[in-house]
Amino acid sequence: MVAAEPEVETKLEQLRFLTPETAEAVRSTYGTPAYVYDVASLKANARECLSFPNAFGLTVRFAMKSCPNAAVLQLFNSMGLHIDASSGWEVRRAMAAGVPADHISLSTQELPRDFAELLGAGVRVNACSLSQASAAALALPGHHVGLRVNPGLGSGGTKRTNVGGPGSSFGIWHEQLGEAEAIIAKHGLHVARIHTHIGSGSDPAVWQRVSGLSLDLMRRFPTATHLNLGGGYKVGRMSYEYSTDLKVIGEPVKGDFEAFAAETGRRLHLEIEPGTFLVANVGAIVSTIQDIVSTSGDEGHTFIKLDAGMTDLLRPSLYGAQHPLVTLPAGGAKRGPPRPYVVVGHCCESGDILTPAPGEPDVIAERVLGEARIGDVCVVEGCGAYVSGMSAKNYNSFPEAPEVLLGEDGQLHLVRRRQALEQIYQNELPLPESIMS
Ligand SMILES: *Cc1c(COP(=O)(O)O)cnc(C)c1O
Repeated sequence: MVAAEPEVETKLEQLRFLTPETAEAVRSTYGTPAYVYDVASLKANARECLSFPNAFGLTVRFAMKSCPNAAVLQLFNSMGLHIDASSGWEVRRAMAAGVPADHISLSTQELPRDFAELLGAGVRVNACSLSQASAAALALPGHHVGLRVNPGLGSGGTKRTNVGGPGSSFGIWHEQLGEAEAIIAKHGLHVARIHTHIGSGSDPAVWQRVSGLSLDLMRRFPTATHLNLGGGYKVGRMSYEYSTDLKVIGEPVKGDFEAFAAETGRRLHLEIEPGTFLVANVGAIVSTIQDIVSTSGDEGHTFIKLDAGMTDLLRPSLYGAQHPLVTLPAGGAKRGPPRPYVVVGHCCESGDILTPAPGEPDVIAERVLGEARIGDVCVVEGCGAYVSGMSAKNYNSFPEAPEVLLGEDGQLHLVRRRQALEQIYQNELPLPESIMS
């Protein structure tokens, strides 16, 4: 059962790890917009994942697509986390950051051309379709592979983050496993891992069903030693949303692994691949309110315009995702009582809104915020996962914003510079003379 989420409240959201002073320090040192990630929270979340209940061993893989900055990869690597990569490019990026090849697992919609080389280097590849299984078999016959299976059900925070079930193209459809087995037998492949990842936003009952279905898959592949249950642990970004308790979802699954071992003698190694859980609430965007305009009449609103937008944070425009917004008066000035605003981004694009109606990216909604003036700071919270790495980068030619780590000692560390204008067009070539009129 998913705990029913209470009605959306009008109470003001609070800063998660920043203080008004650190937000001002970020602005004065690096300018706005800027991403800030909190090292203490990154470490605490990693430790929590590393203590996920397990019967016979655990590997935690950080789903790096959620926050791919090298500094974050290096921090997690130093704590013993491994990596889940979603493309060959991510594999190369993680290796460039210093992650050992054999700590990287690739589950991808598009098999990279150099995947045989990656396999040879020790990267674990999960075949996510029948054609990927054939390609792996032809490239390296007899090799150990994983199979990503679509077990037939999914669970997602939104329709677009649901990655299991008949409406999803991720993984080998469970009814086609016979064909996968034929490919494996023909080429002498060795199935070492079974992988299921059904989406973000799961509840414990769904988790246990998936683990049950996945264990049935393990019966079918007697050589498999590792079961990867993917990620998808929901994290509340807004104060009224619930977060997954890893102990609650993990304990029953641990019991299932023990029962499986008692029955088959196989002590399976568990892998999990959280992205959201590790980073969602460890990041914030510090922005400046660069304009305030209003319209009147029944459908009139007061609009806050940030110097950030879909170029930095796409989730509201894409999913109608809700992110906490905290206005901070410049210089700590006193302001009037909170009032309703519509908050928009800086792009010339009506879809660039930070306060969509929940789950409805096409509909604007008002949000009650602390009264704001032009020049005040606005902090967008819940910006660690699928934000910097998933933006409408360079739309309207806005440069990519810098990324900053807030250390445990309160010091700020720049881990990505703001992009320069020339870097936006550096790969463009001049118009050939012959085309000019
Ligand atoms: C995206 C992804 C994850 C992480 O999902 P979250 O919802 O961020 O936890 C894990 N595994 C795979 C294969 C993914 O594609």
